[in-house]
Amino acid sequence: MPQNLPLTRGKDHPILRAKSKNISTADIASEEIQTLIADMKKTMHHERGVGLAAPQIGENLRLFTVATKDGDKAFLNPKILWRSIGKEDGEEGCLSLPGWWGAVKRSKNVRMSYYDEKGKKHTIKAKGFFARVLQHEYDHIEGGLYIDRADEYHEE
Ligand code: ZN
Repeated sequence: MPQNLPLTRGKDHPILRAKSKNISTADIASEEIQTLIADMKKTMHHERGVGLAAPQIGENLRLFTVATKDGDKAFLNPKILWRSIGKEDGEEGCLSLPGWWGAVKRSKNVRMSYYDEKGKKHTIKAKGFFARVLQHEYDHIEGGLYIDRADEYHEE
């Protein structure tokens, strides 16, 4: 059974601030990675997040999960191929910075490639809130946090 994982928290946490490493495509099917993905999906819902990146549970791997309208999805070794020049402001919070919120300007649309948990490669175009979530989670695997991009952030 999947289990809830403890979260790494704090704007200066060294794992949250490190650039994460790719997962070898040969390792995607491994029990270790499959268990990690299942645990991350469970943890994401337990913590009431719409996305969760591996550094947030203490692993510097290029992997995040997102609760989409089509169910929970895992994104492994994602690459942002294109970001629209058009941007919009949106309020963001983060499970790693509980109680804090900030307005962040993000591209309205992005194109991203990634491997799913079965090792299949996809290229998708995302817009609106989904595009925002992908950009937020992608920042995590680069060692970034939304507060780096926010004009201001405030406590709840
Ligand atoms: Zn976050």
